[in-house]
Amino acid sequence: MELKTLTPYGFASNTYLLTNERGSIVVDPGEKKVVSRLKELGVAPDYVLLTHAHFDHVGGVAVLQRQGAKVGCLAEEAPYMIGGKALVGFGLNFETFTPDFTFGEGEIELLGEKIFVYATPGHTVGGCAYLIDGKLFTGDTLFRESYGRTDLPTGDTRQLFSSLKKLLSLQGDYPVYPGHGEPTALSHERKFYS
Ligand SMILES: [Zn+2]
Repeated sequence: MELKTLTPYGFASNTYLLTNERGSIVVDPGEKKVVSRLKELGVAPDYVLLTHAHFDHVGGVAVLQRQGAKVGCLAEEAPYMIGGKALVGFGLNFETFTPDFTFGEGEIELLGEKIFVYATPGHTVGGCAYLIDGKLFTGDTLFRESYGRTDLPTGDTRQLFSSLKKLLSLQGDYPVYPGHGEPTALSHERKFYS
């Protein structure tokens, strides 16, 4: 799939757009602004995949859902999105939504593309990473030479470290597209943590 990074926006969370001949997937539409960016590109997303329920990753979901995008997340995170109570809103207003579908760890298929979902609890209880067409989207679990905080609701440091270990132990090397900051590669992060 072709990858575009629709960032940075206000809170510098990364929104990614993946397209193939069948359609498009947006990962973590953090802000409403993403909608006008997609319009510029002439893209109406078919799917939205969320790494977790923090406001800076879900702020643009409701409007895309209204435009027909189907919204998915890990089942464990869904309760924090249903009715739109994003897990952490920092008192900011953003439009609420309910996911259209949920999944557990394992393979899902969207737009003819096999996508592997890795449960990565720790930053939040139902956080996940996606392996899409050889690219790893890690949300706020793994950043370039860093990792996500665990002091927000449902965060758990022990779980985060075991999730990091899970990602770093994947076979092979993948480019890594985190929820914040610059892309990296699994091989680079393995070296960094060794
Ligand atoms: Zn977060």
